[in-house]
Amino acid sequence: MNIFDYTFEAYESLLDAALAAGYAFLPVCEYLRADDLPDRFVVLRHDVDRRPANATRMAALESHRDVAATYYLRTATFDPETARAMAERGHEIGYHYEDLAHEEGDLGAARRRFERNLEAFREHVPVETVCAHGSPLSPHANTDMWERCSPADFDLRGEAYRSIDVGPGTPGGLRYLSDTGRTWRTPGSGIERVATTDDLVRAIESGAYPRLYLLAHPCRWAGGTLELASRVAWDLGAESAKFAVGKLYG
Ligand SMILES: [Zn+2]
Repeated sequence: MNIFDYTFEAYESLLDAALAAGYAFLPVCEYLRADDLPDRFVVLRHDVDRRPANATRMAALESHRDVAATYYLRTATFDPETARAMAERGHEIGYHYEDLAHEEGDLGAARRRFERNLEAFREHVPVETVCAHGSPLSPHANTDMWERCSPADFDLRGEAYRSIDVGPGTPGGLRYLSDTGRTWRTPGSGIERVATTDDLVRAIESGAYPRLYLLAHPCRWAGGTLELASRVAWDLGAESAKFAVGKLYG
């Protein structure tokens, strides 16, 4: 882990490297909609778990470069005005759902809650895709909500995990890399040597990975190294809480 990585400056260098190498950026809904995909592209996804102001900063860096991404907002990080402003600048707003965890595994109640929340989002912005939040303090995986229903039942184009095949062995060969754990190293991506943002920039510049699906959590990125140090301290606290709970639930 390089604690000096994950600054907005590093994020900008990542965007610029991909643009210079001829990559197109696609929000999740556009990727799912596309009949014809560009030769090189990045599906760009952001899960807004905390600190929505960080998402606004990230979106501005992208808009400045005409880059569009998907922002998955939780009910706790959804602000109608901000969401609308982001959507007007071309970003996709999706629902980062955690209804099964909130309803303690009750599928029927989770479905009703999901529908209510989705409707509340849709009063302000169009929502075409959703994405499960990994509720670390709950024994219930939110993706289990789909045992008896499908995204189409809610007029959705897809779900960020279920609807997209990733991995070097899949037909599209889409490589999924996430900044979870403050490293881009993602098991199953086939490019596990990529850990820092610099590594990722070099992988992009190499041209060897024309199809990327990147997940960056805005709350993990920061304006400078001092701000970043406090983020890392917060994250380390959260990680050890998750570890303790993980042990409880086995
Ligand atoms: Zn999340």
